[in-house]
Amino acid sequence: MDNHQEPSFRQSVDIMFNRAVALMDLPPGLEEKIRVCNATYTVRFGVRLRGQIQTFTGYRSVHSEHMEPVKGGVRYAMGVNQDEVEALAALMTYKCALVETPFGGSKGGLRIDPREYEEYELEMITRRFAYELIKRDLINPSQNVPAPDMGTGEREMAWIADQFARMNTTDINSRACVTGKPLNAGGIQGRVEATGRGVQYALQEFFRYDEDKSQAGLTGSLDGKRIIVQGLGNVGYHAAQFLSTEDGVLITGIVERDGALVNESGMNVDAVRAHLAETGGVKGCSEGTYVADGALVLENDCDILIPAALEGVINMRNAANIKAPLIIEAANGPVTSGADEILRNRGCVIIPDMYANAGGVTVSYFEWVKNLSHIRFGRMQRRQEESRHLLLVEELQRIAGESGQKNKLSDDFVRKYLHGAGELELVRSGLDDTMRAAYQAMREVWHGRNDVTDLRVAAYLVSIGRVAASYRAKGL
Ligand code: NAD
Repeated sequence: MDNHQEPSFRQSVDIMFNRAVALMDLPPGLEEKIRVCNATYTVRFGVRLRGQIQTFTGYRSVHSEHMEPVKGGVRYAMGVNQDEVEALAALMTYKCALVETPFGGSKGGLRIDPREYEEYELEMITRRFAYELIKRDLINPSQNVPAPDMGTGEREMAWIADQFARMNTTDINSRACVTGKPLNAGGIQGRVEATGRGVQYALQEFFRYDEDKSQAGLTGSLDGKRIIVQGLGNVGYHAAQFLSTEDGVLITGIVERDGALVNESGMNVDAVRAHLAETGGVKGCSEGTYVADGALVLENDCDILIPAALEGVINMRNAANIKAPLIIEAANGPVTSGADEILRNRGCVIIPDMYANAGGVTVSYFEWVKNLSHIRFGRMQRRQEESRHLLLVEELQRIAGESGQKNKLSDDFVRKYLHGAGELELVRSGLDDTMRAAYQAMREVWHGRNDVTDLRVAAYLVSIGRVAASYRAKGL
């Protein structure tokens, strides 16, 4: 296929949006209001580095302010451009609506290859970028709250939070200006793993329904399923690690920048991650056979494909060769709208990005609430819960002792029952509940309407319906 026929990322999002609104009965004009990006701010700033001033270009795009603050990650990559940032901001609007986090959609990006800079240089660049956005209220606890994305993590979020605090010395809620911070800077347990954990919960929920599995021609549980993952970064690593160590899947392919590893018996994800951290690539890792043309491994036979790197990797050129019957979009926009059509026609089930990778924004929501309430989740009730459980256990042991029963409560049961939930358990519980509820909302539409044949349209229908209701409530 000619590359020119491939729509851009933003066009792809619009095409998918249009497929959904064609099935809705929105008031005239509202469809256009929801689809368009409200504003995109482009900033060019100079930083003195290595004896000269270097100019950087960054963006912050606000897609929809039907709820505020607006929310969305900040990406550091050379491919960052206005089109991409706007597409990602739009996806954030739909994602937040789908998982019922009370935010509008936004996204930011800086055109930079972070691997080319020393840590202190990245700090100067990040602080200057943040300064430009903060002074325009494009970073603000009640208006616009960024988070990590490709090329950024806890470290960058801590710099942004500190920059905001320096510029707003009397704002008691300043920490809520950004999420994905390290724990000691106002972060929340479970945020780093959240997006990958959400991918795991999404697959677990999918596998609870025979009807859904059969659409993909799959049966049984996750145990033993062969999975290929692209991108062993934050999202891909955590998804692959949890699925392989907790659900018994086999990671048979890992695709990275420099090539791929394959091993039909499954790989130790931690070992590959360690090799990647040490050498910058997967080549030479003993966990699997190295394949130089990594993209070809996406076309290998497997049960589930997890693209967790970047957008557009499954496109009109390779879609026909993809064999996976189930794709879960851990990255944003990994399947172009052209490829989506080819795959759908072939019966491949795609769990769409706006749902699949919503774990990050969900736990970001918990972090924002924690920052605004200034108290760690579980702090007030954990020991009280434990002492009530202890009361029950002691009473049961006493009754058992009095009636001379030999079968006492097992030590294992007592230990687990007495363990009150701390922040990490509460975060995981809230995330699991969110992923289940959102999946159920999607599948109700997927199976409940004759004119809906795929999960992506179902997801758009649910989220656009919620955004539209929110606009209507505002009198628009
Ligand atoms: P990351 O930077 O931690 O990891 C990306 C990984 O992909 C890296 O290991 C990188 O080497 C690899 N990669 C880059 N180009 C590649 C290529 N051409 N082929 C194969 N591998 C390649 O980024 P991340 O935070 O894990 O984000 C990955 C995707 O998930 C992005 O689409 C992002 O928007 C999306 N996402 C991230 C979060 C989050 O919380 N971090 C939340 C929602 C969605």
